[in-house]
Amino acid sequence: MIVLKDITKKYDNGFEALKNISLHCNEGEITALIGPSGCGKTTLMKLINRLNNPTSGSVFIKGKDISEIDPVELRRSIGYVIQQIGLFPHMNIAKNVGTVPKLLKWDKERIGKRVDELLNLVSLDPETYRNRLPSELSGGQQQRVGVIRALAADPSVILMDEPFSALDPISREQLQEELVRLQREIKKTIVFVTHDMDEALKIADKIVLMKSGEIVQHGTPEEILRHP
Ligand code: ADP
Ligand code: ADP
Repeated sequence: MIVLKDITKKYDNGFEALKNISLHCNEGEITALIGPSGCGKTTLMKLINRLNNPTSGSVFIKGKDISEIDPVELRRSIGYVIQQIGLFPHMNIAKNVGTVPKLLKWDKERIGKRVDELLNLVSLDPETYRNRLPSELSGGQQQRVGVIRALAADPSVILMDEPFSALDPISREQLQEELVRLQREIKKTIVFVTHDMDEALKIADKIVLMKSGEIVQHGTPEEILRHP
């Protein structure tokens, strides 16, 4: 589904953030990228949605080299969730969730339906929350909105960069459980960055351990636990 082939990333200052990385992420699975701060996790994520280009090597999604995919099409097919959520503060929840569908020129009725469906999916009552501003929601609720916003146009891939790390432990645990449940329902291919091994073990089908720009281990949670 997502294939990285011989990826090297050297930043302009000469720093080599990724060193000859190859990786397969299977369709319909959650792959967790884990490793210490600075090991290249975010760099790798940004290569998958072309916020960044590799110095050498290629990224394929469903067999297509992403450098040959139209940018708008790529944006539609990849949902992106980040730690800072990044909801637009002056837009209500419905408008926030509907951003990408609107960009894709869906009609109003279709967007409204989709927004309500997504709010229900994460247990936020549409009647209550649709017209609220982000500041009128708790951190955990805002993060749920961040997640469904990424799902809005039904992308096949979802990238999540430490989406829950700013939350209190209780909201965090709730959202971890919700993500696993959601994943069973929607069967998306998810790449999830974390620096928390417990989180990775709890939610991932596959775990990729990174260190200093390299992959040091890749396997199921059971395999990772057996050979720590
Ligand atoms: P992680 O997400 O694992 O914390 P990053 O991918 O953000 O790591 O960063 C990997 C390494 O690349 C770090 O050492 C970081 O300082 C460096 N780096 C990130 N962005 C840039 C940049 N734009 N220019 C130079 N170095 C960078
Ligand atoms: P910055 O790096 O300054 O935040 P970017 O241009 O990288 O700005 O991204 C702007 C916003 O768009 C970010 O909040 C990011 O999460 C979001 N974004 C970037 N790429 C995608 C994508 N492929 N799909 C959905 N949202 C994206």
